[in-house]
This record gives sequence, C-alpha cells and structure tokens, in this order.
Amino acid sequence: MIDLRSDTVTKPSEAMRAAMAHAEVGDDVYGEDPTVNRLQDMVAAMFGKRAALFVPSGTMGNQLAIRLHTQPGQEVIVESTAHIVRYEQGAAGALAGVQLHWVTGTRGLISPEQVEAAIRPKELHTVQTGLICLENTHNSGGGSIYPLATIERIRAVAATHGMPMHLDGARLFNAAVATTLPPASYAQHFDTLSVCLSKGLGAPAGSLLMMNDLALLDKAKRLRRMYGGAMRQSGVLAAAGIYALEHNLGRLKDDHDHAKRLAQRLQMIPTVRINAQDVETNIVIFDVIGHRLAPPAIVAALKQKGVLINALGGASFRAVTHMDVSSAMIDEACEIFTHVLGIEPLTH
Ligand SMILES: *Cc1c(COP(=O)(O)O)cnc(C)c1O
Repeated sequence: MIDLRSDTVTKPSEAMRAAMAHAEVGDDVYGEDPTVNRLQDMVAAMFGKRAALFVPSGTMGNQLAIRLHTQPGQEVIVESTAHIVRYEQGAAGALAGVQLHWVTGTRGLISPEQVEAAIRPKELHTVQTGLICLENTHNSGGGSIYPLATIERIRAVAATHGMPMHLDGARLFNAAVATTLPPASYAQHFDTLSVCLSKGLGAPAGSLLMMNDLALLDKAKRLRRMYGGAMRQSGVLAAAGIYALEHNLGRLKDDHDHAKRLAQRLQMIPTVRINAQDVETNIVIFDVIGHRLAPPAIVAALKQKGVLINALGGASFRAVTHMDVSSAMIDEACEIFTHVLGIEPLTH
C-alpha cells in the first residue's frame, strides 16, 4: 500500500529503534532525563531560542502557547483553515477560554494588512486581542511557505500593538529545507514556536515548544503538567527525535521533489484541478471535478488499486509525501491516479 494520507504514518526505522532502546533515561519531571535535555538543547540551539520544552504532540505545543500568552475572554488571530481552528477539537476555547478570530488567507497565508485590520481597538466595549498565530508550512494551504518578508512585516504590525506571536511550525523543517533558510531566521520573529518530530522527520511522537523568556518556560512546564503532558523516562522518545534530526532532515527535499512530481502528473488529468507550481513542500491538495464517482468512492477506488489519500470535504483531496514513500512508489501512485481519475496511463 502506498500511504499518502499523511506524513505522520511513517514508522521508526530499525536504526531509530536501536537509538530508542539504548537511550540513557531518567525522570523528566525531575529534569533528570539526559536524552530529553539533550534534545531540548539541540532544538533550542537550532532555532536560536533559549529554551525548548519536549511535549507529546504538536497540539499540546500550540495549546500551551495559546494559554501562556492569553487571558480568558481574549481573542487569538488565526487563519481560518489553520490546524488550531480545524484539528484541535476547539481546545483554545475549551482549555484557554479564548475565542478565535479567523482571517481568511490565500493558501493559508495572511497578510500584514489583514493582521492590522483584525487587531481589536483597545477600548472598553471591544473584545481584546491576545495573540497572533501563524502556521508555516500551512497544512490546509497545501504545504505553502510564508515568505520571510511577510512574517517580518506581520511582526512589525504585532510590535506596534505590543502583541505576542506564536508559530505553529509543525512542518517548519519543510519550509527551512525548501527555502534553504536557517530555521532560526523564521523563529526569531516569534515569542513561541512549536515544531513536530512526528511528521516528515519520521519519529513516532514528540514536539517541542520554544521560547526565549525563561519565566514563560516555567509557566509552560506547569501548564504541560496540567494538560497531562509531563512524562517520565521520555528519553526513549527523545532519542528517536535526536536520531530524526541527525539523519532525516536533509532528505525532506526528496519528499518535496516527490510531491512536485505527483502534482505535475495530476495536473495532466482532465478531472483534476491543481496548479503544480503551487506545490512548494510535501503536501498536494487538489480538486476532482466531473468524475463519475463521489469523493468517498474515489478514495475507495484508489485504495483498491493500492493508494491511500484523504478526502478533505467538498471536491478536495490531500496527498502527502514522506520518508516511507520511495521514488518508485511515487511513479506507481502516478499511474494509479491517472488510471482511477479518468484517463489511460501515459506511455513513456
Ligand atoms: C500535525 C499538525 C500539528 C500537531 O498535530 P499533533 O497530531 O497534535 O502532533 C499542528 N499543526 C499542524 C499544522 C499540523 O499539521
């Protein structure tokens, strides 16, 4: 089966499992797990932040950040299709007591002008803005990358209003590899950012929440405990993360090349709507229009031929490339898409 549902479906390699099995561990609630400490130091250094906190999931990283920066009753500015909006079970409302102020972007990216317009005036009748969240790369935007210049300008708007910024960087490594910019060049513009090890990097679990402010780190540790994310000998997981960072970072470029190839091939199918040049990283979002099958039946037909993808609702589908999908599997997936979505396989 060629599983293109998500880059979270990767399984730890033998070598990664060996690193996990041999990890030196301790009780991380006492701060005594040397492998967790090493991972945290390593990631903080990579992103040019003073501190990184290991958390079980990207959702927890985002939710700790929202809670850290806001007061109940405030509002968080976020793009309308963001992970925080769609896929975190309303946690910002349920756990931090804030409401989300949606701003609709282009391929998930919002402009400094939109941010400026969304910040509430500081007057008595009006709800108060507490935080601005961006997502890079943007999942529902099709793996789109925020231009650094846009982030700089949004940061300048935020600074004018004394507003903190959080980055959902679940796939920030993809952005850094695709642009060849150092991860810190993005991170410098945010008060907090979260990154995932369990996506393209192939680790089984784990995210990191980063910040410069050590008072914020103390608060984040308390909240992580409250949210049930304080773990004990989590060095077993951190070892997988260290292995992933040391071995699987550079190869993200292969995933991007594969996604591009897939998109170019999809673009040739008459029922498919996609701009292959929009595909910048490892996510391919496309519409299927005028096909005899409804979306669930299309997913089933592809599965029957050996390809798994997700239907996103409406006419949209998502295919994600990752380290457990080889170049040959991409070629095979292209044939299957071509076959199932309506035209004869091309000869080459
Ligand atoms: C996957 C993802 C997360 C975190 O997801 P978890 O499953 O909680 O680790 C956060 N943001 C984005 C954009 C994601 O794609």
